Amino acid sequence: MEKFVLAIDQGTTSSRAIIFNHSGEIVSKDQMEFTQIFPKPGWVEHNANEIWDTQLKVIKGALSKGKIDINQIDSIGITNQRETIVVWDKNTGEPICNALVWQDKRTSDYCNALKKENWEDYVVENTGLRLDPYFSGTKLRWILQNVDGALENAKAGNLLFGTIDTWLIYKLSGGKAHVTDFTNASRTLIYNIKDKQWDEKLCNLMEIPTSILPTVQNSSSDFCKTDEAVLGAKIPVCGVAGDQQAALFGQNCTEIGMVKNTYGTGCFMLMNIGNEFQVSKNGLLTTLICSADGSPEYGYEGSIFIAGAAIQWLRDGLKIISDASETTAKAEAIDNTDDVVVVPAFVGLGAPYWDSEARGAIFGLTRGTSDNHIVRATLESLAYQTRDVLEAMELDSGLKLTTLRVDGGATANNFMMQFQSDILGSTVERPQMTETTALGAAFLAGIKTGFWDKEEIKSVWKLDKAFKNDFSEQEKERKYGIWKKAVKRTMGWLSE
Ligand code: ADP
Repeated sequence: MEKFVLAIDQGTTSSRAIIFNHSGEIVSKDQMEFTQIFPKPGWVEHNANEIWDTQLKVIKGALSKGKIDINQIDSIGITNQRETIVVWDKNTGEPICNALVWQDKRTSDYCNALKKENWEDYVVENTGLRLDPYFSGTKLRWILQNVDGALENAKAGNLLFGTIDTWLIYKLSGGKAHVTDFTNASRTLIYNIKDKQWDEKLCNLMEIPTSILPTVQNSSSDFCKTDEAVLGAKIPVCGVAGDQQAALFGQNCTEIGMVKNTYGTGCFMLMNIGNEFQVSKNGLLTTLICSADGSPEYGYEGSIFIAGAAIQWLRDGLKIISDASETTAKAEAIDNTDDVVVVPAFVGLGAPYWDSEARGAIFGLTRGTSDNHIVRATLESLAYQTRDVLEAMELDSGLKLTTLRVDGGATANNFMMQFQSDILGSTVERPQMTETTALGAAFLAGIKTGFWDKEEIKSVWKLDKAFKNDFSEQEKERKYGIWKKAVKRTMGWLSE
């Protein structure tokens, strides 16, 4: 009987299930969107029960589409939207309110108040993160302080807290397991990544009783067995990682200095920095990632807010393309941008600039500028922003990037990938399998059960195309210099 590994990929807008065979190929998948709830400006919620219902449906959907019996599933790996949290009643299993999503900004004022009380340094040095509403801790505090009776109930030991992986494992195990993995814990703001335990000081500060917190495990370890009443069989769930860390693992970036970049709506970059905790001096986060056997190591993380979203803006805002795939032909219709630069700082600038008052701009316009120039310059902006973050990673780590592994929707664009290589002066490697997030979760599960060994997963990763840099050093630095000049001029735009 052929065996498979099931990856549960619970994202911000959809729940997905993907079944992989031993060669790492997708044999079946299913996907369902769920409701995005916006109760007030800046607030973003999900219904945790709907997340579970859709997740269960797509698991069953993927099995039936692939004509695979549940007993053919060797093991299950979970990867999930990070920082989103659920609090539920231990006795009934019912969430006490909607899940608060990573995008939710309701705790901005509280984060600012903590900054004024000089908590930022402690947070950076112990969690690797910054005081930002993005992370879970202040959201958990908000629920405990604002949902009727929550704090008392939590103190009495009646409530459980979890990121989405924890919630799904709780449901899959029929309410038996309350666990998470190191990578998800490292995004909560209340987890000390230096000591690898929940941070007592931060929990006390935010009045979070420790009884509410899940047990933290290696990303490749036994989290639970599925309840027969839920899936019809007892299948081990033994791989768990947050989405970006799962992608890093799926890209086989398990050696020090290896970097992956995911080009979706935004760009998410992670660099493996090995087993020593280091604080970034250049605007990056430090977070826990998975080593070759799934145990925790450290990584630098840098995010770009607007990447593929800038291509969507060309389509929906400027209406100069009707589909993202048209950008290649338009970019290649001209020889170069004639030094037109698009800085897509539509929501400010993230790493390494951290300027919320920057706004987007187009520079270098002349009578000869056409829509093609703007399209090409927009594609190039994804590559320039990537170099900005990679330079910060190189500075912080003292390591020189040789190869960048890429995934995500926008990597379909060969022109952009070639330009990325040119402007970095490094090789860019695009794998055949671009579902690296789900694959990473599957790998974590499969190496635990022995479905794959560590060497096998290296050979499962297959190159689709390597883009080799082609610019002279002079041209590369001239173009990048113009980009830096343009970025400077967008900074502080709102405050000037
Ligand atoms: P997400 O997971 O954030 O929704 P995906 O990985 O699905 O993102 O990638 C979709 C993004 O990639 C969109 O923002 C889209 O504009 C961009 N994109 C898709 N195809 C191309 C292309 N050929 N060239 C450039 N950008 C593209």
